[in-house]
Amino acid sequence: MRPYAYVRAGDIDGAVATLAEAPNAAFLAGGTNLVDLMKLGVETPDVLVDVRRLTLDRVEDLEEGGLRIGAAVPNSVLAADRKIRTRYPALSQALLAGASGQLRNVATTGGNLLQRTRCVYFYDTTTPCNKRVPGSGCSAKEGHNKNHAVLGASEHCVATHPSDMAVAMMALDAFVNVRGPEGERRIPIEELHRLPGDEPQRDTILEHGELITSVDLPPLVFLSNSKYRKVRERASYAFALVSVAAALEVEDGVVREVRIALGGMAHKPWRATKAEEALKGEPANAANFRAAADIELEDAEPLRDNAFKVPLARNVITRTLLELSEER
Ligand SMILES: Cc1cc2nc3c(=O)[nH]c(=O)nc-3n(C[C@H](O)[C@H](O)[C@H](O)COP(=O)(O)OP(=O)(O)OC[C@H]3O[C@@H](n4cnc5c(N)ncnc54)[C@H](O)[C@@H]3O)c2cc1C
Ligand code: SF4
Repeated sequence: MRPYAYVRAGDIDGAVATLAEAPNAAFLAGGTNLVDLMKLGVETPDVLVDVRRLTLDRVEDLEEGGLRIGAAVPNSVLAADRKIRTRYPALSQALLAGASGQLRNVATTGGNLLQRTRCVYFYDTTTPCNKRVPGSGCSAKEGHNKNHAVLGASEHCVATHPSDMAVAMMALDAFVNVRGPEGERRIPIEELHRLPGDEPQRDTILEHGELITSVDLPPLVFLSNSKYRKVRERASYAFALVSVAAALEVEDGVVREVRIALGGMAHKPWRATKAEEALKGEPANAANFRAAADIELEDAEPLRDNAFKVPLARNVITRTLLELSEER
């Protein structure tokens, strides 16, 4: 048994300061990922700082019209929130497509964003894994890699990011608010998660001791026409093979605004900026949606077991945008 200390800080500054002093400490929220990783010996913090009661646990209106989601808001509460469901439906749909009812009751917004990859080798401490033990090698490159990345991978790691919620937030132009030893910062969500490069052990740009306090959604009206579609091996309780979050505004048959993000494709939620650029000002039809998807996917580098992800992503992008264009 590996002993560790459990600390409940009185406030956010206290939690941040405790982590700043303890290089091997970790924040604990719902614990649905961190505790699993501790049981397997993948993560070995010596201090757990419970932050579940510290950050905002509600969804609040922002003065300029958007919404602020507290880091402690449970996934189930967020999915059911009326304003989220009507103004940002892709986010509610993404949350409901993830995990199970019981897990969503416990899992938090902050913890969901920072959950770690589901690469099986990362969880198996008997196999080499550069993310778990830097420099040890990547078992997935030549191993079972059906679930792995086809975009933005490196020779050091081909893992995918697992969060459905983060993919929706990416398409919704969210900002992540963080408090750390150096103060506060506001991070566009596309900058929060990293590609693996030669440091696959780092999932995000956050420094040790930085606490996510909330996530802001912008007041863009067309985001109410958004959707999340997830393809997985079982109808529930499975991570995405490929997922798409999209938002679309069409005027007189022409694409005015579009946001597309992909899950299950890369080490981070993948913003499909090339496809978005290709679509702006063009007629909203299936041929253009498919052509834009192809532009985004032309840099894909499938592994032995996951070439299917490229046509699958193309089809899911096309279908999702078509549905959004027909619903308005
Ligand atoms: C069987 C199973 C199936 C699942 N299926 C899905 C799925 O289909 N889709 C999906 O998206 N997810 C799925 N999940 C993952 C689940 O969504 C995450 O485990 C959960 O969202 C993590 O939230 P948490 O609050 O429990 O985080 P924790 O486990 O407490 O923490 C996770 C990480 O975040 C850090 N952390 C937590 N809060 C903060 C904060 N405020 N600031 C900074 N760091 C913080 C912790 O230190 C830790 O590193 C599944 C999980 C399980 C066990
Ligand atoms: S893909 Fe990444 S997480 Fe999986 S074995 Fe390779 S280095 Fe580890």
